[in-house]
Amino acid sequence: MNPNAPKASIDRVVGEIERMGAAAHLSQGKFRTVIGAVGEEAILDQNHLASLDGVEKVVPIMKPYKLASREFHEDDSVIEVGGGKVPKVPVGGHHAACIAGPCAVENEQMLYKIARHVRDGGATILRGGVYKPRTSPYSFQGLGTEALKWMRACGDEMGMPICVEVMDTRQVEEMEKYVDCFQIGARNMQNFDLLREVGKTRKPVLLKRGLSASVKEWLMSAEYVLSQGNRGVIMCERGIKTFEDSIRYSLDIGSVPVLNQWSHLPIIVDPSHAAGKRDYVAALALAGMAAGAHGVIVEVHYCPSEAQCDGPQALLPETFKELMVQLRLIAAIHKREFAEAGELASA
Ligand code: PEP
Ligand code: MN
Repeated sequence: MNPNAPKASIDRVVGEIERMGAAAHLSQGKFRTVIGAVGEEAILDQNHLASLDGVEKVVPIMKPYKLASREFHEDDSVIEVGGGKVPKVPVGGHHAACIAGPCAVENEQMLYKIARHVRDGGATILRGGVYKPRTSPYSFQGLGTEALKWMRACGDEMGMPICVEVMDTRQVEEMEKYVDCFQIGARNMQNFDLLREVGKTRKPVLLKRGLSASVKEWLMSAEYVLSQGNRGVIMCERGIKTFEDSIRYSLDIGSVPVLNQWSHLPIIVDPSHAAGKRDYVAALALAGMAAGAHGVIVEVHYCPSEAQCDGPQALLPETFKELMVQLRLIAAIHKREFAEAGELASA
């Protein structure tokens, strides 16, 4: 739309797009409003849209992902995680964020202990799995609802929003009441029903990259969430399967600048699951930030040898704290900043 287009013109264009049978998505920038008309190309009468009052130009987006693309939204999206009893933590643009905590919630005590460690170390969002996607059905599967409630109470007490993996459409309704951010695991990146279901909520979604998904496929998954009206997608590079077996997964550092060019969505890296081993976690986290990530998600445990899940890759609290100091330095080269817990305002 023209920079000075009045609301009536914007409403008219939205109405016309809907009349054609497409969906209209508004993106209000600093200077202008962009209206995304998403639907089959054949039903969209471009000439008619171009002739409407206030329309500056009609630009077909050729990419298969539309709402996730830079063409639709020029500026970096900043997604706010939290609100209510816990602070709102911005992720994206100049705001870097660190999500940390245990792989899985094993009991109430360990959760509080780790949460205190990561908060004191500089993390602003707490992670912790309550439903675990395990390769073996005989491995620890997570404690479910009980652990979800501990996560909520612990986040509230620590002043940290919580990020928890949702594995199934049947879990969305209950989890929505507790979590500040849904995590979609790598194995569920193309669970389209699940993507649509979290897309219907208005809670941010941390979308992990599938183990063998291309960046384009990953963006198409983000599009599923966005197309349901949920704007809060945070992309997470967590390593992909390659022939290399010296490390658990190959963290695709290249996907970070590619995503930053193709999309306005924030991208964070998960060095823990890529590394599979704590010795490599810090280097991968720093490399991700140097490549232009908007933050990291890291697993931490005070007694990794007793962890029920992913112990070998968990950082000790001390090491995590040291890593945060280094991450702040690297973030500065992209003019990004990790907020200090104290400076975040509540909703
Ligand atoms: C996790 O974050 O604990 C996890 C299972 O991650 P991913 O889906 O990336 O394997
Ligand atoms: Mn894990």
